[in-house]
Amino acid sequence: MADRSPVLQVENLEVHYTTPRGVIRAVDGISFDLAQGERFGLAGESGSGKSTAAQALMGLIRPPGHIVGGSVTLDGRPLLGLSDEQLRRIRLAQMAMVPQGAMNSLNPVRRVRDHFADSIRAHRARVGDREIRERMQELLAMVGLRRSTGDLYPNELSGGMKQRVCIALAITLQPKVIIADEPTSALDVVMQRQVMQTLRTIQERLGASVLLIGHDMGLLAQFVDRLGIMFGGRLVEVGPVGDIFHHPVHAYTRMVIESLPTLKERDPSRAARVSGARLQPSRTEVLRETAPGHWVAVEEKAS
Ligand code: ADP
Ligand code: MG
Repeated sequence: MADRSPVLQVENLEVHYTTPRGVIRAVDGISFDLAQGERFGLAGESGSGKSTAAQALMGLIRPPGHIVGGSVTLDGRPLLGLSDEQLRRIRLAQMAMVPQGAMNSLNPVRRVRDHFADSIRAHRARVGDREIRERMQELLAMVGLRRSTGDLYPNELSGGMKQRVCIALAITLQPKVIIADEPTSALDVVMQRQVMQTLRTIQERLGASVLLIGHDMGLLAQFVDRLGIMFGGRLVEVGPVGDIFHHPVHAYTRMVIESLPTLKERDPSRAARVSGARLQPSRTEVLRETAPGHWVAVEEKAS
């Protein structure tokens, strides 16, 4: 069971993109905690601000994006406002991300072992080949890949293997927090399960906390302890995964859950399409705790 003291605290985080067509409030004031050893899911349709939120946590927002408000605290230490170099160190050692589409960004002309060498040298320039090889083998074993995988080129790997390589690369320094942004999209069901299993094994081995981002609520639910539902840059509901599924309160969450296809006929994009078409995000809702640990966005009443 997870220790309940939060490793990561996000408060009122706001990220805007300034575009020729106006300001996009990609993340519009979200708050949540991540406890030590906890698996927390961030679900929401495409464009709801999930990746932007992840990048903001990692200190990776670049123009035209700007963090315009809020705070992010890792182990009691405020992250927003740190220098790029300080953030880079934290990224390597404490909070790691497997970005959306990571498996397609492996360099096709470099072997898997070269990727490991780069990643290991990124934080320790003077490290011998033998040590790199040993560390790589350890990491490959952790994600359930053979040591000979190091000799292969990315195009010799299946999608699931590539994604597991990316996870292994991200955890080189045994981070406390692992953010995985849609790690299973574009994979078939068998590989989805393998990747999820890999994440779980690693999370348990490292005692890390995981922030898992996805649009497929059914898939997320099998992995996480708690779930946050994003809609239009805002969190509309946060709670234990069972509560969210059995007692969804917010209109958006209810729509998504009602329209979830059965496992047999699952089409992850369908739920989002159905619901997004009918509801508009509200900027005047605030999160209220309606049951222990279950938070729902409700219209703020003028007092
Ligand atoms: P998700 O990961 O949930 O699909 P994103 O965080 O990628 O959502 O996007 C949230 C919103 O921000 C969308 O409206 C998207 O078009 C916009 N957005 C994302 N990245 C950029 C960018 N670099 N420039 C302008 N707008 C962006
Ligand atoms: Mg995304």
